[in-house]
Amino acid sequence: MPEEPCIFCRIARGDIPCAKIYEDDAVLAFLDLAPVHPGHALVIPKVHYANLLEFPSELAPAVFSALKKVGAAVMEATGASAFNVMQNNGLAAGQTVFHIHWHIIPRFDGDGLAMWPQGGYATPADMQDMAARVISHLKK
Ligand code: AMP
Ligand code: ZN
Repeated sequence: MPEEPCIFCRIARGDIPCAKIYEDDAVLAFLDLAPVHPGHALVIPKVHYANLLEFPSELAPAVFSALKKVGAAVMEATGASAFNVMQNNGLAAGQTVFHIHWHIIPRFDGDGLAMWPQGGYATPADMQDMAARVISHLKK
């Protein structure tokens, strides 16, 4: 944990309020106070990990179970036809709170939200080169 407890640690320990929607031993979910759409929720581990690289894989089943429960409930509560699960790692990726969290964002047909623009590779060989470069950095 950082020297000063982070905002999500303070929420997890109940020091500051949140609109809580789900809790179990390992995981907490609450509404984002600046929602993309009302019902936008955040799922966090109660223990502080800054990002996915620090997050222990052993906790993944608890988080995924919560994502499924909360995602289904948010869809039903909002009448959404779909939802995004988003998780940002690092400033350049848009992370602003450095306690890992997953966004559940309800989506509606024709809601006009765009994802990011997509590009391509100059050649199929460039794509294969990139695949080989990533594979060479995979840790066991
Ligand atoms: P990210 O940009 O992925 O780090 O997302 C952080 C999210 O936390 C943002 O969508 C904020 O609106 C949300 N947020 C920050 N502080 C609070 C808070 N006290 N309660 C609820 N949501 C918060
Ligand atoms: Zn924290």
